[in-house]
Amino acid sequence: MKAEIISIGTELLLGEIVDTNSAYLASQLPLLGLDLHFISTVGDNQQRLVNILQQAWQRSDIILTTGGLGPTQDDITREAIAEFLAEEIRTNPELVKEFERLFKHFKMEMPKSNLRQAGVIPSAQIIANPRGTAPGWWIERDNHTIITMPGPPNEMQLMWTNSIMPRLQQKLGTAIIVSKTLKVFGLSEAKVDELVSSFLVSTNPTVGTYAKPDGIHLRITAKACTTDEAQAFITEKERSIRAILGDSIWGTDSDNLEAIIGALLMAKGLTMASMESSTGGLLANCITNIPGSSRYFKGGVIAYTDSVNTFYGIDEHLTSRYGMISTEVAAAMALAVRQHLRTDIGIALTAVTGPSEIEGKPIGTICIGIDNGQRTSTFTKNYPGNRPQVKQRAVISALFELRRILI
Ligand code: AMP
Ligand code: MG
Repeated sequence: MKAEIISIGTELLLGEIVDTNSAYLASQLPLLGLDLHFISTVGDNQQRLVNILQQAWQRSDIILTTGGLGPTQDDITREAIAEFLAEEIRTNPELVKEFERLFKHFKMEMPKSNLRQAGVIPSAQIIANPRGTAPGWWIERDNHTIITMPGPPNEMQLMWTNSIMPRLQQKLGTAIIVSKTLKVFGLSEAKVDELVSSFLVSTNPTVGTYAKPDGIHLRITAKACTTDEAQAFITEKERSIRAILGDSIWGTDSDNLEAIIGALLMAKGLTMASMESSTGGLLANCITNIPGSSRYFKGGVIAYTDSVNTFYGIDEHLTSRYGMISTEVAAAMALAVRQHLRTDIGIALTAVTGPSEIEGKPIGTICIGIDNGQRTSTFTKNYPGNRPQVKQRAVISALFELRRILI
């Protein structure tokens, strides 16, 4: 079956926002065995949208649209589909009641314009939108399916995974697809590729590698008649991959390092503190994103340039002999902050973030110190990238090494 995506919104044509919805949907369609032949982008213009719908109808079986379902006058997807199918939009009283309930709950008055979102054509079935007021539409006519989804990516993706994907799976009689992501850090994509190369050719489950800011993701995707069967395929493949990559796998699916570290510290009843120079507090920011971090994180110091010597009692000889960006200084910073804030663990970070080298050390040099009261461990990494990328990488590297020490 042939599918086609139409993304709607003048802001997309102006380059103000990037069409991530199409990319997301495009990545989902192969899982359903659907062939995607066209992606079109059209502005908020009813006539042009009707024209695109006409073309799509001629060449595709399933038409997916995103955007243009807002309450304002420029959102014209509903009107264009109604015009194209020669149907009339009628206000759906159930939806009106639902909106009134929602607005009452948030103690807001419902703007009249929201009523537009309660308008539906007779051949459309409503698809629930748990994150917003714009419902989706599912239309079946003359062996064609039109599915309309809202533009905000979080609304669209939830609607897709909750309602549309399962319904398409049922309609197409395609197999159940289950996937699991293993998150790897500390190895390059090429190295991961090499280590798991024998799995990359497997067809069910398939295994793919993706470079992400928090390392390499390995996605295992299995197809089967039942969820249990697909799950069993994944478990088996995961076991083989873990046997090879071991400790480099730090999490799965929606796991993040800062949450994992928080859980480890809580389980062991340990506290920590941080001292950062080049990352300007990014590590502390990351750690404090986790609710309940106050139970284990006692504070962080941003010791930029000379303040390391002035305020935190780090031996000036160390900085003059080894330079600010050195494992020696990182170790001293980790120890100093641990003692200063009386915690079990002190972690320190210093890096060359660019745009030029420092102390003869290349851009992307990252030095990490971790002191746990018994010993100080240090690490040097190199990660070429721009300033924000190096900062982010430095923080992830530090969190990864801290996790290794904690486990
Ligand atoms: P709309 O449903 O047209 O009112 O879109 C609401 C918002 O969703 C827009 O302002 C964008 O921020 C976002 N959005 C719409 N279409 C897309 C798209 N194709 N990709 C990513 N974001 C989008
Ligand atoms: Mg719009």
